[in-house]
Amino acid sequence: MANVTLEHVTKSYEDVVAVDDMNLDIRDGEFVCLVGPSGCGKSTTMETIAGLTKPTEGTIKIGDRDVTKLPPKDRGVAMVFQNIALFPHMDVYDNISFGLRLRDYDKEEIDRRVERASDIVQLEGMLDRMPEEMSGGQRQRVAIARAIVREPDVFLMDEPLANLDAKLRVHMRTELQRLHKQLDTTIIYVTHDQAEAMTMSDRIAVINSGELQQIDPPLTCYNEPTNRFVAGFIGSPSMNMVDCELAPDGLESDSFAVDLDPATLSGAGVGDHVALGIRPEDVYPVEKADELTASTAPIEVTTDVLEPMGDEIFVYLKLEGAPEDETMEGERSSNSLLMSVDPDSDIAEDDQINVVLDASKLHLFDGDSGDAIAHGIVDIGAAAADSAVAESEGGD
Ligand code: ADP
Repeated sequence: MANVTLEHVTKSYEDVVAVDDMNLDIRDGEFVCLVGPSGCGKSTTMETIAGLTKPTEGTIKIGDRDVTKLPPKDRGVAMVFQNIALFPHMDVYDNISFGLRLRDYDKEEIDRRVERASDIVQLEGMLDRMPEEMSGGQRQRVAIARAIVREPDVFLMDEPLANLDAKLRVHMRTELQRLHKQLDTTIIYVTHDQAEAMTMSDRIAVINSGELQQIDPPLTCYNEPTNRFVAGFIGSPSMNMVDCELAPDGLESDSFAVDLDPATLSGAGVGDHVALGIRPEDVYPVEKADELTASTAPIEVTTDVLEPMGDEIFVYLKLEGAPEDETMEGERSSNSLLMSVDPDSDIAEDDQINVVLDASKLHLFDGDSGDAIAHGIVDIGAAAADSAVAESEGGD
């Protein structure tokens, strides 16, 4: 077991900075996922830890040792990659034990380690099978067992489940969590799949353009994203973003207003452009307003497309008066909102309805830098909440 520390690690290629001044402190025994869009620098970060790539600048420590200049074999790490390369002419036992045999371990020790590893990944009774006789999931387990027998201080896994079908991926996720519990070893895991990261990690490191955006437990990344990028990346479907201006009595977008006292916000003042973020599950039909501790005033919308998912329905809502505008990649347009409702909802397409936003789940981001200004604005003024309740009760 060992902690892994990256201090100001940068990796530049000729015209690309793949990893940009990365500082990471991964604790002993922790399961940390590196997530981010394709090309953000996840694999390069991993390769610098493994010793497959030399950082342009910075220091990498594993335990107390500075390993920056050590070759991969001396770092105490074992790797599992997306493309598992098993030796086709060797059975499972030989595949798992190959590295140990190369290092001249004695037969008894090899047997002990192979037995333990195959037990952990549930390959008992399959040690004499050839790779071609195994399913994708079983082959991936052989690759993991091959890493386990090395008894490394740190496991590095780069998208190890990416080539498996969806059902098997979910199953293997559980297996990896079990494996982590059993081995109690530091695991650093690369994925672009935020659902994988949410379910498995102790902490998620969100990376964009080579830069670390946030490293926190999954629910902290979900509930308190440090900036607009993390807010959009973590959570599926992604958070709604509406461009607003901060007025003396609250937020104003092209189509609705949210009461709040700008003095309660640190980091933004009247006249500032901000992005208002709200997750689909925090948008409610107005009838539900009185179930919320604090909600915005009703917002008039027209329902657009409905997507029934079985356990919920996604309802696309067109906001009145908002023009088409530019959005960040992966975000929905600012003139629409996505709402998640119960599957028994009778909402239909092209309905004119009123919705409210759960004020305790609002997020505000700086219009320029994208940095978070506030999460949860419960103090939105009694007037808005009262009018939402009156509306839901049929009052005027
Ligand atoms: P990810 O794993 O997040 O998809 P990578 O770490 O593979 O991203 O790549 C980060 C960036 O560095 C990308 O722009 C990629 O094209 C670039 N890159 C990675 N490896 C090399 C290389 N050997 N030579 C040049 N550019 C590279």
